[in-house]
Amino acid sequence: MIKTDVIIVGAGPTGLALAGQLRRYGVEFVIFDQKDGTTPFSKAIGVQARTLEIYEQIGLADKLVAAGAIAEKASFVEGGAIRGTAELAKIGEGLSPYPFLLIVEQGLHEKILDEHLRAEGKEVLWQTTLESFSQTEAGVTAAIRTADGATETIEAKFLVGCDGAKSAVRHGLGLGFAGSTLDRLFYVADAAVDWNFAHDSLYVCLAQNTITAFFPMVGENRFRIVGTFPEGHQADEGEILYEEIEARIKKDVELDLNIHDVKWFSVYRVHSRRVDKFANGRCFVAGDAAHIHTPAGAQGMNTGIQDGYNLAWKLAAVLRGKASLSLLETYDEERSANAKRLLQTTDRAFDFGASDEWFVAFFRTKIFPHIAGFALHFDAVKKLIFPLVSQIGINYRKSSLSAENGFFKVRAGDRMPWFETDGASVYERLKAPKFHLLNFFDGTNRPAAAPENELLDVFEIPLYPALAEIFGASRSFSVLLRPDNYIGLITEDLTGADVAKYLARF
Ligand SMILES: Cc1cc2nc3c(=O)[nH]c(=O)nc-3n(C[C@H](O)[C@H](O)[C@H](O)COP(=O)(O)OP(=O)(O)OC[C@H]3O[C@@H](n4cnc5c(N)ncnc54)[C@H](O)[C@@H]3O)c2cc1C
Repeated sequence: MIKTDVIIVGAGPTGLALAGQLRRYGVEFVIFDQKDGTTPFSKAIGVQARTLEIYEQIGLADKLVAAGAIAEKASFVEGGAIRGTAELAKIGEGLSPYPFLLIVEQGLHEKILDEHLRAEGKEVLWQTTLESFSQTEAGVTAAIRTADGATETIEAKFLVGCDGAKSAVRHGLGLGFAGSTLDRLFYVADAAVDWNFAHDSLYVCLAQNTITAFFPMVGENRFRIVGTFPEGHQADEGEILYEEIEARIKKDVELDLNIHDVKWFSVYRVHSRRVDKFANGRCFVAGDAAHIHTPAGAQGMNTGIQDGYNLAWKLAAVLRGKASLSLLETYDEERSANAKRLLQTTDRAFDFGASDEWFVAFFRTKIFPHIAGFALHFDAVKKLIFPLVSQIGINYRKSSLSAENGFFKVRAGDRMPWFETDGASVYERLKAPKFHLLNFFDGTNRPAAAPENELLDVFEIPLYPALAEIFGASRSFSVLLRPDNYIGLITEDLTGADVAKYLARF
């Protein structure tokens, strides 16, 4: 019998990243996976800025950036020629310390997460499968089959199913997973491509009823190629040979290219589904176990990592006796709303990319490639697109954990905006796994000193004009950040009463 606080089922990116967060909070857990190690496949390759901001807190961001490639540009190709190009390397400049899209193979990404865990003294139990589980009001019991074929029991306070799209945990909890399955078949191939284009750009090739993207990967001329077969293509996932994919690519992109050294390819059907609830009692689901959707925008893996980031601090607070069980209800509240938005956005993006309605196809092939690169030169467009794709724009404004007093541009529930103060990133001060009270001082009215509290770090920051502009504030104010650096409270009350009232919940 193993006893622990949290059982994590599945060690894909969601489970491994959740484990890293729980470790940060000093929470005891057991993580296991039926596979014999991290995935050897490249699968998800886009790592978004918000994920890197999260990793920065545990010292992993620089490792990932060093292991990957930054997409320098996006080029829009139609009819065999580049019709427009946009600079991407600094598209989010001023908004995040990671103002780009990073390309890292999922296999390597998982390895870095796994190594981090081992360096922290925690091992994934590989070749270990969840056989069954049950829960009472006091805890959870799971039966597992270990690598040597033995059955063992784990007792814990909570269980998190990070066990992928076919999640046994989701099924066991009886959670709904409504949505649809797309008619089209998707393909991916990791290969070297010889052509007249440089290796520093992401190429989006737009055709009458298909879209084919080439993402530059580490290695000479190596690209991840992603595309779809047209609607009505009569074949099942397992029936398609690589030769058919290559022929499809060449037909759709109308370019003179030679594809060789194919390391990996896969054909898959895409679903757009989400759970009706992210939790049932003491059990939770996260990542693909909770939501799956089209690959538009490289959102899937990043969303799973952020599910875990949202859940980890809440589990830690409850396990330490600093918050009541009801705090855990906000995991479903916040992440369900996010998953709903995510499916709507990825469905819409996919419809635009692949619809064969004549007017959509006309816009996609004849107008979009010419204007997209140009439009992305404008700051206003960058500020609209980057927060959406990089996930820094995700907010919990409607959450029951968000409170505000006063009128500000930045709202309760928003991610803490990024800026530099005294020549250093403000995020440098926000790494401790605690609440953070930031008192912005206009030089006249000083916010009251906060009472001593082991859960809280307090900083005073001069309210210089650039910060007044970001927050839309002309006088002193206070921001109380939750441990995941989303704004719990923003207030112009300087007496400390609002802060004390907010913290009284914890
Ligand atoms: C071909 C392909 C291409 C993709 N491309 C992209 C992309 O470009 N961008 C993107 O964002 N996403 C992409 N994805 C999706 C991305 O890979 C997933 O979103 C991501 O892997 C989800 O991570 P996860 O940890 O939630 O689930 P998974 O990666 O599926 O991990 C779940 C883990 O749980 C384990 N497990 C399952 N059941 C049990 C059990 N009963 N007991 C023990 N262990 C169990 C599994 O072995 C697995 O390791 C792609 C996926 C595929 C298949």
